Amino acid sequence: MSGRVYAGKLDIGGPELVVMAGPCSTESRLHTMEMMHAAKEGGADAYRSGAFKPRTNPGEFDGLKEEGLRYLAEAKEIYGLPIVTEIMSTGHISMFQEHGVDIYQVGTRNAQNYSLLDELGKLQVPVLLKRGKGSTVKEWLGAAGHITHFGNSNVILCERGVATIDPEFRNLGDITAVAYAQRHSKLPVAFDPSHATGRRDMVYQAALASVSAGADALLIEVHDDPDFALTDGKQCILPEELAMLVKHSRQLRQLYVESQKEYNFRIGSVKSGRVTVYFRQNELPLMLETTGEDRSAIRLKTYDEPTGILQARIKDGALGKFKQHYEHAIGRLTSFTSTSGKSVPIVSLSRQGSSSAIMTPYSAEAVRAAGKSTLNERHPGVERIELKRRYPTDLVLDAFATYEDPLILFRTD
Ligand code: PEP
Ligand code: MN
Repeated sequence: MSGRVYAGKLDIGGPELVVMAGPCSTESRLHTMEMMHAAKEGGADAYRSGAFKPRTNPGEFDGLKEEGLRYLAEAKEIYGLPIVTEIMSTGHISMFQEHGVDIYQVGTRNAQNYSLLDELGKLQVPVLLKRGKGSTVKEWLGAAGHITHFGNSNVILCERGVATIDPEFRNLGDITAVAYAQRHSKLPVAFDPSHATGRRDMVYQAALASVSAGADALLIEVHDDPDFALTDGKQCILPEELAMLVKHSRQLRQLYVESQKEYNFRIGSVKSGRVTVYFRQNELPLMLETTGEDRSAIRLKTYDEPTGILQARIKDGALGKFKQHYEHAIGRLTSFTSTSGKSVPIVSLSRQGSSSAIMTPYSAEAVRAAGKSTLNERHPGVERIELKRRYPTDLVLDAFATYEDPLILFRTD
């Protein structure tokens, strides 16, 4: 799981799946009342419905606008579901605030409207940012960066499918992008199977697939009479189907959360890229003699004569957890094994399940020189290294090069 966004009573990115559901458009006062009731009965946590509708062609129904926001606020008064609705212009911000909108949705068409994103970044309102239908994952994350850059970290990324060549679908739901955003961003991730498929017979399957890929929230279009919906009827499911989708998705979410504990410990936290481990040349024989429990294998990769540093690459994920938090760490090698007959030996390290390495006195000194505390509060007398990203590389390398005890240095790329 990635970061968390709190929107009123909603906790998006926590262990529970958050379901936002409702008709594509806010259609009338009565319909809003009925549909919020139905969404709540169906297990939704929030009501998602558009008062401002971006339309591909002019002249089409483009929403009830402020009148719609009034209906949404009124239904919320009665049924209590937080409101998620699309904002298309900076000029509407005060209107959204006035009507107590809980989550400001930025649609696919505005996904790279940087002036809108920057303005939303200056507020503290939760923003649900859809991916542009032609945006790469990096552009999507970059757009989110526009909001967080100005101090608003309450952003939920929402994958809603990208342009497809296949006429059977409205968009191509990019499940990999959900998994990618989970791993490469600190923001919670939502999936919108309605726009991602464009067809009601695919919504349930696509939703479950996204939960398996790590979606923290779902955005589902629901309508009590889809054939007569003012917009997007083809992709709206019925309230009964929502109830089943919510039930199964929540069960799957539990399984996902459980499975990730093991995955993150073993593999996932290595993420992409490498963790590089350095050994000093003169320590290698000593390390070769050491045996012990295999916790994580690293593959020796290059050997740099002039510096006497051997570089290795993590093969297995047990060390990876540390990569999430640290750029460097110095520790002692506690075990080593090698595979015979192969030119590339495998080294095994034990980290005692901790993402901090025990410091040597020398490196402690270096850390103190950088003005950082080295005290380990839980184990007095043992100094502990926690080299966060700001820690100067030179100092770490210097400590590594000079200290006499066998040391290893981990560096994440
Ligand atoms: C919508 O959520 O109804 C909508 C217009 O979505 P998108 O911006 O993803 O097309
Ligand atoms: Mn829609």
